[in-house]
Amino acid sequence: MLHFEESMQIIENLHIDHYKTKKLYLLESLGYVLAEDIVADHNSPAYPTSAMDGYALRHEDMAMGRLKIASINPAGSTPQDEVIGGTCIKTFTGSLMPKGADTLIPIENVEVDGDEIIIKEPVPQGFSVREVGENYAKGQKLIAKGTKIDFPQIGVMSSLNVVSVLVYEKPTVSILSTGSELLELGEPQTHPGQIRSSNNYILEAIVKKYDGIPMQLGCIKDDKASIMQAVSDAMAQSDIVVTTGGVSVGDFDFVKDVIRELGYEVLFKGVRLKPGQHIMVARKGDKFILGLPGFAYSSTVTALLYLVPLIAKLQHGKMPLRQVKAKLKEPFVKRAKKAEFTACNLSLMQGEYYVDFKDKKVGSSAILTNMLGSVALLVTSEDENSKEVGDEVTVLLLD
Ligand code: AMP
Ligand code: MG
Repeated sequence: MLHFEESMQIIENLHIDHYKTKKLYLLESLGYVLAEDIVADHNSPAYPTSAMDGYALRHEDMAMGRLKIASINPAGSTPQDEVIGGTCIKTFTGSLMPKGADTLIPIENVEVDGDEIIIKEPVPQGFSVREVGENYAKGQKLIAKGTKIDFPQIGVMSSLNVVSVLVYEKPTVSILSTGSELLELGEPQTHPGQIRSSNNYILEAIVKKYDGIPMQLGCIKDDKASIMQAVSDAMAQSDIVVTTGGVSVGDFDFVKDVIRELGYEVLFKGVRLKPGQHIMVARKGDKFILGLPGFAYSSTVTALLYLVPLIAKLQHGKMPLRQVKAKLKEPFVKRAKKAEFTACNLSLMQGEYYVDFKDKKVGSSAILTNMLGSVALLVTSEDENSKEVGDEVTVLLLD
């Protein structure tokens, strides 16, 4: 079995041969990763522009104390008149500065007397004039390829008149749960051996949240031929297939054999990890299959650890989950000599993160309710031991 860090390294070092890109209307690109650099093709502003309502004048004329208002220069018009000695032009926020003026004195700093202004409070030269390129300069790279598009990027690209933008396609992720005991949402129970499936639904939510396009394929019985057919159909129409169950050592665990028999290159099978040690990751070209364990907590944690980075990888993005340091408010009992991911409550007090285990149950990897609340995952490496109150620990944030 691989050490956890080795398995992470394999995901991190994956080389993708052909990233898929597409053009999207700017507003449709929110949440996608940019596949091109965004470079300014003009200066902003392109001309000296007034930043306040007031009077455009020559700084040296302010000493005269009184200036004639020669004309008026509203925003959106091209100033026709030039400021000549001893005069000023009434100018507004966003108006281009008229020729001859180097300073804008705000309305608040003058008194109007007929067609003249009286300077009450002088301003320094250049006051309230936005210089050419103040916002950005022509040729400047404003947003780098690989950036996830959020509202600031939409705003800056609109000001550049970027109507459509090249992005990496979000990978399509087919989701399939295996297990003859499973009932789908709404399916009536007919005997006590059945359990309600949660895996395929929590995975659909994870894929949606972390920027993949989920394809829900529901539950399938532990029958090798059906699993074989379902997995190969799923692969034909998606970039990633994620299954749950059937990767362990039981008589009905067929997924692991199906992945091999379908000719996938197994990147790893089995990681010194709790929960989720039976995980299997395989690839064929740029398509991937993740065989996650069946237990609900295990499949959730392994999806966060392996599926989420893979979704990011296929669109050239950055890993969205962050690790932070926190202090233990309760002792932590290390249960296995493996990398362990333990659901905990995370709180922030005076700028420091704290961890406790209130209402978290100790038991099997079926306890999905441990993921409720202000949850994060306490991360301990294979070599770490039990810990005391006040010890510093590493925590994986989930939002
Ligand atoms: P397996 O890995 O197939 O041996 O499944 C391990 C455990 O996880 C069994 O107790 C299953 O009933 C349970 N399990 C498997 N699939 C699901 C699912 N889709 N939702 C909830 N529990 C599941
Ligand atoms: Mg099973």
